[in-house]
Amino acid sequence: MKSVALDNVSKSYGGVEAVKSISFQVAKGEFMGILGPSGCGKSSTLRMIAGLEDITSGELRFDGVVVNDLSPKDRGIGMGFENYALYQPLSVRQNISFPLEARGVPRAEIGPRVAKIAKLMEVEDVLDRRPYELSGGQQQRVSLARALVRDPSVLLLDEPLSHMDRHARVRLRARIRHIHDAIGATSIYVTHDQEEAVALCDRVAVMNFGDLQQIGTVEELWLKPRNRFVAGFLGQPAMNFLPAVVHDGHRLRFDIEGQPMMTVRQALPGRGKQVTFGIRPEHIRIGGNDATMPGRVVLVEMEGDVDVITIDVGGVELKTRSGTHRSMAPGDAVMLAFPEVSQHVFDGEDDAAPALN
Ligand code: ADP
Ligand code: MG
Repeated sequence: MKSVALDNVSKSYGGVEAVKSISFQVAKGEFMGILGPSGCGKSSTLRMIAGLEDITSGELRFDGVVVNDLSPKDRGIGMGFENYALYQPLSVRQNISFPLEARGVPRAEIGPRVAKIAKLMEVEDVLDRRPYELSGGQQQRVSLARALVRDPSVLLLDEPLSHMDRHARVRLRARIRHIHDAIGATSIYVTHDQEEAVALCDRVAVMNFGDLQQIGTVEELWLKPRNRFVAGFLGQPAMNFLPAVVHDGHRLRFDIEGQPMMTVRQALPGRGKQVTFGIRPEHIRIGGNDATMPGRVVLVEMEGDVDVITIDVGGVELKTRSGTHRSMAPGDAVMLAFPEVSQHVFDGEDDAAPALN
């Protein structure tokens, strides 16, 4: 088990600045997620930690020791990547046992360890096949088995479940977490899927355009997003945003014709300033005494045990999400309430707009 620290780490590919001076630390035994949209620099970050990609500038440390120039095989890491990179001429069994043989683990120990991990990763039936005889999902499971079998001190996984169906993903992610806990590894897990990050990780680093946006527990990211991007990236459906203008200290006006003024708990910037009001779908209440925002139902979608209702409010569509099935239909007039405790206000209108707390 080792700690991992990135200190102003950057990556450029020619003119493309893929990772822009990011810093964070992963404690021994921690399960850290790197979450963000496609192209935001997640894989580049992980590949630098793995040693598969040069670090353009900055410092990478394992247990306080700079490892920028250490080759991947000397870093004590287990890696499972989206593009599996299995050895095609070798059988699945040989692919999984390879890291153990390379480290001189006694023969008698290798068989049982391979069998155990193959069972957990659901590839015990294909151990004698070659990688090209497997589906994408099976290849990923073999790649994962190979990463996990060696009890790595640092486990680096890059979207390792992306080619599997939903049920397999949910099953296997629980096993990955279980193995992490059992071997006491320090894990870094890259994903664009917030559900995976929420289910697996102790803390999550959210990235966008090569920048680290925020790092924290899921609860911290959820309750206190640092900016509009983080607020909008976590949550399904995403947080609703309404453009607004500051009226005075704690009151704002919506940029929508005929809408009432709203009092918020946050101290607002100067009068006339553009802000963004945010509220999550599950926090919007439909009806009730304090519902003052008129809207019209556009769409009702059933999602298992909840309804997602899209409501037009003066030309802006908001989504609500609630467990109580209401008999509502497109065209219905409704009144909405935005409870004060669940309000968010951002100082500006773009992704970088900081949250006012
Ligand atoms: P993610 O994993 O979050 O999807 P990547 O780290 O793969 O993001 O990519 C970040 C940015 O760097 C993207 O703009 C991508 O096109 C670019 N990039 C990644 N790898 C290379 C490379 N080998 N050469 C040039 N550009 C690259
Ligand atoms: Mg990637």
